[in-house]
Amino acid sequence: MISQGETFESLVRALSLLPGIGIRTAQRLVPAMVRWDDEKRTAFLDGLSPLRDLTICRQCGFLTDDSDCRICQDGMGATRFAIVSHPQDVLALEAAGLTDVAFHCLGGLVSPGKGQDEDALLLDALVQRIDENIQEVILAFGPGLEADLTTDAISRRLPQTPLTRLATGLPVGADLSHSDVLTIRRSLEGRTKYE
Ligand SMILES: [Zn+2]
Repeated sequence: MISQGETFESLVRALSLLPGIGIRTAQRLVPAMVRWDDEKRTAFLDGLSPLRDLTICRQCGFLTDDSDCRICQDGMGATRFAIVSHPQDVLALEAAGLTDVAFHCLGGLVSPGKGQDEDALLLDALVQRIDENIQEVILAFGPGLEADLTTDAISRRLPQTPLTRLATGLPVGADLSHSDVLTIRRSLEGRTKYE
């Protein structure tokens, strides 16, 4: 049997692997979790179990646990694309009424500040997915320098494809998923051609 100290340390180490959770926060979380009843503990552990098989799809950039990615399948035959920086942005766009598009997730934006250049993003796979039948590629990023640099990188790779940008109104630099549905809907409706 492992000692109490080791048990506590093991839980703290695991929780502190989460983004945004430091050791001190983890140390506060563990006692709270220990007070959970069996039902809640089971729900937590069962909820985490798919993590073992989850990966990022090399074609579309979304989470998948399968070689037949659902997002790739859903996007087959679409004539419009919507490009997002993070997977959670898709939920925000769908809630704002954007459907009938193929989604593509770059895995971030070009960011000199974070040392993230074009090579770190899923751009080559994007070019592979776009053919001459695509009528519009919506660049679904909020405004900001990183969005501008990313837009530039995409337009250089897809010179023949009509690109549109979201209308202003979204907060600068914020993730789309932090904006409300109405703001996103307005920015979609007012989107403009990028030239
Ligand atoms: Zn995929």
